[in-house]
Amino acid sequence: MPSYAFFHNQFVPLSEARIGVMTQALHYGTGVFEGIRGNWNSEQKQTYLFRLEEHYDRLLNGCRLLKISLPYTTSELCQLTIELVARCKFQEDIYVRPLAYKSTESLGVRLHGLDDDFLAFVIPWGPYLDVDKAKVGVSSWRRPDDNVIPPQVKLTGLYVNNALAKTEAIENGYDEAIMLTPDGHVSEGTGENIFLVTGGRLVTPASYNNILMGITRDTVIKLAQNELGIEVIERQVDRSELYTAEECFFTGTAAHITPVAEIDHRKIGNGEIGKITGSLQEIYSRVIRGKHPKYLDWGTPAYKK
Ligand code: PMP
Repeated sequence: MPSYAFFHNQFVPLSEARIGVMTQALHYGTGVFEGIRGNWNSEQKQTYLFRLEEHYDRLLNGCRLLKISLPYTTSELCQLTIELVARCKFQEDIYVRPLAYKSTESLGVRLHGLDDDFLAFVIPWGPYLDVDKAKVGVSSWRRPDDNVIPPQVKLTGLYVNNALAKTEAIENGYDEAIMLTPDGHVSEGTGENIFLVTGGRLVTPASYNNILMGITRDTVIKLAQNELGIEVIERQVDRSELYTAEECFFTGTAAHITPVAEIDHRKIGNGEIGKITGSLQEIYSRVIRGKHPKYLDWGTPAYKK
């Protein structure tokens, strides 16, 4: 099935969306991206785009930071994404990748005085961490502070940090990395936020721990509180707390909720999927596919009935 892109303000086959070698963003990482899931509901033959507006609000925050001005509002970005996904007609889980970037074809490190552009494309994409439970290692690469490169938005240049940590983890035999802050506290995975279960409560690093404020993180916080009645605490987390947690899992648009079985060769709990993690996975999988009546507002149907 051919995929499409929104590129230079029109819909084109993905294979025709090409940028020039001198594009400023390619050289200096001056772009901001998002990752949005379309979750396939086979009974309804429908794809639900999950928390679409929130993703574009975050993208537009990144644009402010990078002095990128787009000629689209959040609601226009949502509309063109629905149209793009509808054109592709995939009948499986998909991933939408929007990118706003400095498009001028000239060299020179800066943000000012450059043209901006926006593109988006769709690909079919199953689970990101292709394991039912992950073995992870604490990275030797630290997550930068907000005044180094702000981690609150998805800046393309920032992801060199994530790529260094991810490849180190894979080469060391792990599935994923956990990055610490410069002062040694737990921050996040390379494409996921992290949660621990301790004393029956959920604990997750706070905004001041150099994390991306994940939309899946927010979803899990709300589902834990509202559906399971579990207390959630956002706070600074020590490295050693990772090893003594009862349960641990990652959250992310691409990774969904991925249980963590082992950290630095230490089993978490009994090394199996924990009770709270499993319950959250079960509720979350219904929520993202438009199967949970209370949370239908979070899903935007892409296909016309
Ligand atoms: N942290 C990082 C570094 C990420 O790249 C992602 C994926 N966007 C997340 C956390 C999870 O964020 P979200 O749930 O909004 O996808």
